[in-house]
Amino acid sequence: MDTRKTLIRPIPVPGSVSSAVVTPIMPAVVYASDSPDSLDDQYNGITSGYTYAREGHPNADMLAQRIDALEGMSGGIVMGSGMASVAAVLLGLLSSGDHVLGADQLYGRSLRMMTEDLPRMGIATSLADPTDIEAFAAAIRPETKLVLIELVSNPTLRIADLDGIAALCKEKGVLLAVDNTFTTPAAIKPVERGADIVIHSVTKLLAGHADVTLGWVAAKDPEVNQRIRVFAVTTGLTASPFDCWLAERGLMTFPMRFRQSQETAQRLSDFLTGKPGVKRVLYPGRADHPDAARAQSVLRGNPGNMLSFELEGGRAAANAFTEAAEGIAFAPTLGDVGTTLSHPASSSHRALTPEGRAALGISEGFFRVSVGLEEPEALLEVFEAGLKAASAL
Ligand SMILES: *Cc1c(COP(=O)(O)O)cnc(C)c1O
Repeated sequence: MDTRKTLIRPIPVPGSVSSAVVTPIMPAVVYASDSPDSLDDQYNGITSGYTYAREGHPNADMLAQRIDALEGMSGGIVMGSGMASVAAVLLGLLSSGDHVLGADQLYGRSLRMMTEDLPRMGIATSLADPTDIEAFAAAIRPETKLVLIELVSNPTLRIADLDGIAALCKEKGVLLAVDNTFTTPAAIKPVERGADIVIHSVTKLLAGHADVTLGWVAAKDPEVNQRIRVFAVTTGLTASPFDCWLAERGLMTFPMRFRQSQETAQRLSDFLTGKPGVKRVLYPGRADHPDAARAQSVLRGNPGNMLSFELEGGRAAANAFTEAAEGIAFAPTLGDVGTTLSHPASSSHRALTPEGRAALGISEGFFRVSVGLEEPEALLEVFEAGLKAASAL
């Protein structure tokens, strides 16, 4: 017997002249080279390949290139979460003494990073209303290096003045980072409208099945992109192969999921409007939305799958609604194949005072809905049952 066959890894992974149609999962942490010379060639870019999974692996590259194609960008980096993307941009590009300006209704953890973590590191931050270009321009300082916005705010779904902010950032020489999670490239490719950096929580609509936590980020300028990549690799913000594989699988159906859930969201928002017990409905696809005109120009007729509505009757009505709305997860996420319902006063915005919430238009009867792929008729029935229970109090 050849004793070398008993070594731990004597046999190379089998190759094939015909190639797999589906991306294989490559869990290898490390890649073996033939010699120090061949490793040199690889590090010097003469040959290409992988060395260590934190620095890159086939599953991350497959997913990154698919999202790059959707966003019309190149060199995108897959991250372990949407927040890892936000962190890599803010911490990888800013230094002590810099100032960063954020929109005032960013995703909760992005807000927290702006208000709690960056100041601790000597990076000044402030927040301004991105629907009000004058207020936004007034908040720019000489030391402002970066602006971070989302195009549709959470949870009141206001539409940022993207063109105004992009022009402002260009004039002032400030990097514009756009978190495109809510809006997705199916509605807008921010890089075509002046963004320098685009961020995603892939966890949400892109992966779409609420079974994987991932992010993606790309910068238009290759030098900026490389700084983000190096910071992410150094701090270990990059993603695991299996997660990337799951997200790639989910992404295959993204355009169809987006179209279908958007269609149902329009229908649901029309259904809820004017119903007894419903105080107001917010959906960027409705003419009565406060930023209806901007929604048309920014989202190009793609108002998305998110809507919000407010019940009369406060917390008691909210409890009755969620309990009666059987089959719809009352859960603080978005972009899943199933419709999810979130209640900002008890979740994302619970740390605010009632007055602070009121200033944002969030009452105890306020809900955000992420519309999924249910048959629209079935979904309307569930909402009807919820409304009945809420108004029967
Ligand atoms: C969820 C979300 C994030 C954070 O993404 P995770 O994948 O949960 O870390 C960032 N921005 C927006 C707009 C989000 O909705």
